[in-house]
Amino acid sequence: MLGLEDLYQEIIVDHNRSPRNFRKMDDANHQAEGYNPLCGDQLTLYLKLDQDERIEDVSFQGSGCAISVASASLMTQMLKGKTRKEAEKLFTEFTHMATSEVGSEIDSDSLGKLAALAGVREFPARVKCATLCWHTLETALHDKDEVARTE
Ligand code: ZN
Repeated sequence: MLGLEDLYQEIIVDHNRSPRNFRKMDDANHQAEGYNPLCGDQLTLYLKLDQDERIEDVSFQGSGCAISVASASLMTQMLKGKTRKEAEKLFTEFTHMATSEVGSEIDSDSLGKLAALAGVREFPARVKCATLCWHTLETALHDKDEVARTE
């Protein structure tokens, strides 16, 4: 039987091998670039928000390590249909999980599959890989004219 860690590992391998929503979006109304110089991960995030500030579509393109790609893929899956407010809440919850103490409890009810990335807590350098797409999301939502960097 597969343990929880094996299951989490499988989710990451799967999302790295075939990333979801991996495409350029021509009619995006928010867009941002992210770069993690420590690992070389880079991505462009595209967002389309409707009049009610709901995320109608989200996609990304880029290259990087398995963690950064899987994290971005999982993030885009989670964000579809969410409001800006809900997306901000997930950002807070995810970054909290990724930087929490090893062994502390994870709120898998609200995080869903994102909990698969909890393992990065044990590897501080990988935390930046996992949170890069989320910082890029913040940049995109606030239309900041800068590249999101995790340093
Ligand atoms: Zn990385």
